[in-house]
Order: sequence, then structure tokens, then C-alpha cells
Amino acid sequence: MAEKGVLIVVSGFSGAGKGTIVKKIIEENENYALSVSMTTRKPREGEEEGRSYFFVTKERFEEAISNGELVEYANYVGNYYGTPRKYVDEMISQGKDVILEIEMQGAMQVKTRFPEAVLIFVTPPDAEELKRRLMSRGTESEEMVNKRMRRAYEESAFVDRYDYLLVNDDLDKCVEDLHKLIDASHHAPNCSAGLLEKINEQLKVYA
Ligand code: 5GP
Repeated sequence: MAEKGVLIVVSGFSGAGKGTIVKKIIEENENYALSVSMTTRKPREGEEEGRSYFFVTKERFEEAISNGELVEYANYVGNYYGTPRKYVDEMISQGKDVILEIEMQGAMQVKTRFPEAVLIFVTPPDAEELKRRLMSRGTESEEMVNKRMRRAYEESAFVDRYDYLLVNDDLDKCVEDLHKLIDASHHAPNCSAGLLEKINEQLKVYA
């Protein structure tokens, strides 16, 4: 049993379906905690303050940056997005596995600050499917869809910086694989630092 929770980063091209995947795994395991991000983007229809995001002004976001309130942040197609530090720290120390659903720039900051974090990238099977999913949302203008496709092109060159890749062509399989990856990450030695210290102490008599 892990002493501390694991920090899991889930990224993917916008429209890859990572929101759906993350929502599903959170419902299936009560030891997972989903971090709610802060953003300067305007709420979409159906999005709720404090559940989907904390929707803030640019001024408030910049204040959060300078106060060190964020684990990471990025500017994504014209808006700021960032992860509030307090919740992540509290949940990890309570032994919860914290899931961050964030884009690539932020993921790289997490990797630098928390080398033990597990980085997972979700992709649809091909670009055509990506565009189809973005268009079918119906919440985005054609210009915004094209901006997101362009961003996906730029991001595609850096996916090899992640630890794992999940292809989302079958939602249930994808969710199952994500559970397995999180489960496996509990077996990293750093999750059992206390146990290793104890064994080391016990072995000292043989030194
Ligand atoms: P959307 O506007 O579609 O909700 O999100 C746009 C992108 O921002 C998505 O790729 C999403 O994963 C990412 N994102 C959401 N929250 C954060 C965050 O706190 N930090 C970073 N770096 N990216 C985020």
C-alpha cells in the first residue's frame, strides 16, 4: 500500500476525449482526486464554477502566479490555465492519487518540479477523428477549431516526452488501461520511502 498518493498528469490533443476518460475513472475509484484548474477562459454552456474550473479574471490569475499559488500554468490559445497548489499538496499527503488534466507546457513544468509524477498522453486514432470530435462539440467556432488543430500539430512533436501513450478509440479499454498505469505507478520505490528506510535500518546490523 502506498504511503503517499501519486501525481498523474493526463494530457492529450484538445478533442482527444481526455475529459470523458478522466471523468469516468474518477467515478470508478474513490482514491482518485481530480484537481480543478483556474482559468481566464469564459465558461462554456453547462460548465460550473468550482467544478469544471475556477473562472477568474486575468488580474486574479496573475496575482495567483506571483503569490506562488500554482503548481504550474500555461497560456493556451489565448487564455491562462493553471493548477492550484493547495489541493494537490493536501490530497497527495492524504494518500490520494491526484489527477491533473492539463496541456503539454504545464505537463513539462510538473515533470521538472515533480520528477516522480507519471505523464500520460491521450490521442485519437488519427487527425481526421480529432477534427470530427472538435466540430461535434458544437461549442467552438471554426476559427477556434482550426487553432486547436494547429496546436495539436505543434504538440505532436513532443509526445515522446511523456511516460505513456493511450490511443482513445475504445473508451472502456482506454479507461481500463489508465487504471492499470496508475496502479503500476504505486510500485515506484519512491511511493514506499518509509518502508525502504525501515528495511535499510534493519539491514544495518549486517553492514
Ligand atoms: P479547455 O478550454 O478545452 O477546457 O482546455 C484547453 C486545454 O487546457 C486542455 O488541453 C486542458 O487539458 C488544458 N488545461 C486545463 N486546465 C489546465 C491547467 O491547470 N494547466 C494547464 N497547463 N493546462 C490546463
